[in-house]
Amino acid sequence: MVDNRTGAEEVLETAAVFIAVGMEPVTAYAASLGVLDEQGYVIAGEDGKSQVEGVFAAGDVRTKAVRQIATAVGDGAAVIQSVETCLQGR
Ligand SMILES: Cc1cc2nc3c(=O)[nH]c(=O)nc-3n(C[C@H](O)[C@H](O)[C@H](O)COP(=O)(O)OP(=O)(O)OC[C@H]3O[C@@H](n4cnc5c(N)ncnc54)[C@H](O)[C@@H]3O)c2cc1C
Repeated sequence: MVDNRTGAEEVLETAAVFIAVGMEPVTAYAASLGVLDEQGYVIAGEDGKSQVEGVFAAGDVRTKAVRQIATAVGDGAAVIQSVETCLQGR
C-alpha cells in the first residue's frame, strides 16, 4: 500500500481487498441551471425542490448524508408529491 499524501509504502497482510474509488455525480448537463454544489450534487431538500422552480432532484444525485437504495426510494416518493403540487399550480 502507498500513502498518496506521504509516499510511504507499507505491506498489509490481508485475505481480501475492497477497492473504493469514491463517487462522482454525472450532472454536467445541469451545470448551467445553477443548482449544483461544488461536488456536482443538486442542492435540494427532502422535498426534492431545488432553488430553481420546476427543477427537482431525487436519489444519489441530491445533496444528502446517506446515499443508499432505501433513501433513493424515499426520495422518489417524496419528490413525486412536490412535482404533482408544482404541476397543479400551473
Ligand atoms: C459499489 C456500490 C455498492 C452499493 N451498495 C449498496 C448497498 O449494499 N445497499 C444500498 O442500499 N445501497 C448501495 N449502494 C448505493 C445505491 O446503489 C444507490 O444509493 C442507489 O442506486 C441510488 O439510486 P438512484 O436511482 O438515485 O441512482 P442510480 O442507481 O445511480 O441510477 C441513476 C440512473 O440514471 C442514469 N442516468 C445518468 N445520467 C443520465 C442521463 N443524462 N440520462 C438518462 N439517464 C441517466 C444512470 O445510467 C442510472 O441508471 C451502492 C452503490 C455502489 C456504487
